[in-house]
Amino acid sequence: MVENVIIIGSGPAGDTAALYAARAELKPVLIEGSSAGGQLMITTDVENYPGFVQGVQGPDLMMLFKQQAERFGTRFVAGDVTAVDLSKRPFKVTIDGSDEYEAKAVIVATGATAKLMGLKSETELMGRGVSACATCDGFFFRGKELIVVGGGDTAMEEATYLTRFATKVNVVHRRDHLRASKIMQQHAFDNPKIDFIWNTVVEDILGVEEGAVRGVKLRDVRTDKVSERPIDGVFIAIGHKPNSELFVGQLAMNETGYILTHDGTKTNVPGVFACGDVQDWVYRQAVTAAGSGCMAAIDAERFLAADEAAEAKVAKSAHRV
Ligand code: NDP
Repeated sequence: MVENVIIIGSGPAGDTAALYAARAELKPVLIEGSSAGGQLMITTDVENYPGFVQGVQGPDLMMLFKQQAERFGTRFVAGDVTAVDLSKRPFKVTIDGSDEYEAKAVIVATGATAKLMGLKSETELMGRGVSACATCDGFFFRGKELIVVGGGDTAMEEATYLTRFATKVNVVHRRDHLRASKIMQQHAFDNPKIDFIWNTVVEDILGVEEGAVRGVKLRDVRTDKVSERPIDGVFIAIGHKPNSELFVGQLAMNETGYILTHDGTKTNVPGVFACGDVQDWVYRQAVTAAGSGCMAAIDAERFLAADEAAEAKVAKSAHRV
């Protein structure tokens, strides 16, 4: 059976695409992926998703997204997409190496993953003083002293943003100069609340036993000297990785792997659409991901309607002959 539309990914973008596609009676199939629910599943309080005056827990929000998409007939399939063939229609999507699905249209909503430093303590304390999103979690650090790890534009942007809440923000960077654009560097240098700790890496985050960050172990990469520093929170801003490996060689991407879209959510392959963080390296918010998921469903619906009309025209002229 050829499905109308397969949605790959179950974060805010994928679930919203499913909701809109289901309400357009396309009977969408959504493949959830191994991290079902996406990045919000590792977030605690979400206070910037409109409509939730008192805030909402990330996993609870994703449960609501899923229930709403299911209510209108989305079929959720647990499993990971392991291969896609977008070279001809119907498109082929393989799940967990064996189950093969076919679809007239595909919506890619596989999201992005924040790069982490690879410390055990950082995963254990994620959401308990460790964060990879200042816009999401900065508010919880009013009056606290923080560390931001990284030397790129994201680190500068996050550090600057965090000074709204924090008493002091220390940017820990592994080299002695920044990768960030000159203008963003200057903003950070000009901010009296931002300090720089150069040539230094975070060796460990302290507080696992207490269940909340209480400090960091820093290592000077030139001398290997390790020191401890009390701190209330650690923001990791060492880049994001779009989850786009599956589509390499099939969909056009920029040099960092983000899928390129045009005219809304269209990719270079007609009938394949991309939404959410896998194609957005600028905004990266749940609400913008959801918005682009809605756009992708509308784009897919219009594509399928145009396709159907073209097929009907061909059939009609064949009938005349
Ligand atoms: P980048 O890849 O530009 O920077 C990552 C930073 O993290 C680098 O300074 C890098 O160090 C450091 N880093 C990487 N891995 C580690 C590690 N394991 N331990 C410690 N430090 C590490 O990522 P960004 O997210 O900053 O930016 C991504 C893209 O998005 C860029 O093109 C950027 O310009 C763009 N962007 C634009 C914004 C804007 O215009 N408003 C805002 C945010 C991002 P090193 O320098 O030594 O490699």
